[in-house]
Amino acid sequence: MRRTKIIATLGPVSESPERLKEMMLAGVNIFRLNMSHAKHDWVRNLCTSIRAISKELNLHVGLLLDTQGPEIRTGDLPNKLNLKAGDKFTFTVRGAKREEEYSVDVNYNDMVDDIAVGDVILVDSGVIRMKVLEKEKNHLVCEVLTEGVMGSRRHINLPGVKVNLPALTEKDIADILLGIECGIDYVALSFVREANDIRTLRKLLAEKNASHIKAVAKIEDQQAVKNLDEIIAEADGVMVARGDLGIECPFEDLPIIQRRIVRTCIREKTAVIVATHMLESMIQNPIPTRAEITDVANAVFEQADCIMLSGETTVGAYPIESVQTLDRIAKRIEESGTSEHQGTIVLKSDREFVVRSAVDLADRANAAAICVFTRTGHFAEVTAALRPKKSLIYAFSEEEALCTRLTLNYGVRAFVLPFPQSPNETVVRAEKFLRDKGLLKSGDKVVFISDIRLDDELVSSVLLHDVR
Ligand code: PGA
Ligand code: MN
Repeated sequence: MRRTKIIATLGPVSESPERLKEMMLAGVNIFRLNMSHAKHDWVRNLCTSIRAISKELNLHVGLLLDTQGPEIRTGDLPNKLNLKAGDKFTFTVRGAKREEEYSVDVNYNDMVDDIAVGDVILVDSGVIRMKVLEKEKNHLVCEVLTEGVMGSRRHINLPGVKVNLPALTEKDIADILLGIECGIDYVALSFVREANDIRTLRKLLAEKNASHIKAVAKIEDQQAVKNLDEIIAEADGVMVARGDLGIECPFEDLPIIQRRIVRTCIREKTAVIVATHMLESMIQNPIPTRAEITDVANAVFEQADCIMLSGETTVGAYPIESVQTLDRIAKRIEESGTSEHQGTIVLKSDREFVVRSAVDLADRANAAAICVFTRTGHFAEVTAALRPKKSLIYAFSEEEALCTRLTLNYGVRAFVLPFPQSPNETVVRAEKFLRDKGLLKSGDKVVFISDIRLDDELVSSVLLHDVR
């Protein structure tokens, strides 16, 4: 079994039930709904369809709703504009109309105040670069530095600028409410700037009785990098959103930031996703470049919880092949041995110390598996965070939804199993269940993390057993 999880973003080339099924069989663990593009009816249909297919296949597949967030965008342009280097171009705010042919309104009123003459504005994933020449109350006149086509609703990046937009826009709130209705497992917050943004999300979830939904913070600008530690401490998961991060920061800093985020997340037991451009060339080609293979391999070596596909599975010509490619590279690299993070991880409770000793035992005994019984998912998450060397993690829960919420975590596979009264019997049943499924065989060693009864108290314990 592959331990690194695969996230695939949904789009026109992956939305049909046949494709969804193929992608699940190819190894997708989580589907991502990107609300920058998705319509509500589309999301509703897909969520229903994914739950039905995963049930039919007897797989747990997670659903991640990715918000648009406080993103700056161009407004509507009647016609696209071909911009050449040296052209003058004007951004307006508050609908201020300009006489010039080359101008567009933007959705961020404070942009004029936040930007200084001489600053650089990037449009459409950094394709068009402009320098600010002059500014007045409602407009910024720029010089085009690199040519490109200006269109409607294009994403604007202002590197280094602390954008003064709410963490959750009205659209984000409406989208999250839809997600709750559709039973999603994770919300990814775009352009998180500080830990408080995550708390704002948690408050909304709590108000809607949806605190079970996990919060993923997308690190995509310099502000987030600056507040990285507090964000990682607050979030359930963190995404290295390399698409925007590579525009907002000098791109040569990106590998350094990625490494820092992955390491800090592992130390803090926060799940971590490496995202964007992993197999970009596979949007057009059936095989990846050598650089892409190595990039994916590095994320696996570093033991990120998840690797993610975007354009490859939304608009690409080879969505299934892209998933198969991630699967193939991840399996091979895991088999070759990944880097070790143990010893640096911060433990915070007695229960976490118990898990630590279970993982140590499993590593020393070369156990095939660690089995955990969990009502909240915490035991399973901590076991995953401690990154057992060889052992797979099988989590047992009485709740289906909890199983799909463990799809994010490294090396965890979850199963629904009713917990009988006696803890002994739970262990016996779980072992039989895994044997029947062919996941354990005679002679395998298994470590169990289980509660046992001492008088009237349930106490966490670690057991080592040879499968008969
Ligand atoms: P996006 O986020 O695909 O929603 O832009 C990911 C990224 O920026 O890398
Ligand atoms: Mn982004």
